[in-house]
Amino acid sequence: MEQRGKPRKAKVKLAFAFRKTFNCGECGRSVTAEKKIKKSGRTYTYYRCTKKNVICHQKYLEEQPLTEQLNQLFQKVALNDDLKDKFLREWQKDYKKAQTAKPSAKNLKQELKTIEEKQMRLLDAYLDQTISEEEYTKAKEKIINSKIDLKEKLKFGRKGNNWLEPFKEWILSAHQAVRAANTENLEEKRSFLQKIGSNFQLRRQKVACRLEIPYQKSAEKSQYPRWLGRRDSNPRMPGPKPGALPLGHAPLM
Ligand SMILES: [Zn+2]
Repeated sequence: MEQRGKPRKAKVKLAFAFRKTFNCGECGRSVTAEKKIKKSGRTYTYYRCTKKNVICHQKYLEEQPLTEQLNQLFQKVALNDDLKDKFLREWQKDYKKAQTAKPSAKNLKQELKTIEEKQMRLLDAYLDQTISEEEYTKAKEKIINSKIDLKEKLKFGRKGNNWLEPFKEWILSAHQAVRAANTENLEEKRSFLQKIGSNFQLRRQKVACRLEIPYQKSAEKSQYPRWLGRRDSNPRMPGPKPGALPLGHAPLM
């Protein structure tokens, strides 16, 4: 229903980078955002569970500590320049190997074609009654087995290369994590977060999420903060706080 002539109140939609990104870890409702102005005049943004039709005990979390937690996560999964280059070199090698392996897939297909022709000739011979049924059955069985073999090899060959693209993507985006951790742009942080994980939750003012497998691995092996390649040796640099970012499917706290 359209209401003509009635000027709509121009509702300014405030942009909150992480609104509806998280669900509450206690009740599962979505996490919304609000802006508040303190008596001092300082504006701050906080995120909280909507607690819609439910009893929930979760407190709000300010945007600042939320962002810091995300930065820690990004630093955990990040690859620095050196590691990126190292992995890319590895990737290049594997890629070349896969490329040179291609002619063999071509050979396999040729071989398969030859066998199929052979099968046709065999059938002809049988229909012409130049071979006995017994001979035919025996030969046919052999051909069918070779065909199965070849098809398996072809299938395996294709599968063998499938990991190459995701591997490269992981290298590049894990390197991008350094940037995501350092940027002031919260939208960028959110989109990177969504790239590396899913099932984002807030519980007890802590972020939890499920990382995609390659990022899980790099987080496990994280050598943070060494990987960040920071120039200063600032002692205030936070190390990975135990329990600050529970990874895995469910919050661990
Ligand atoms: Zn809740």
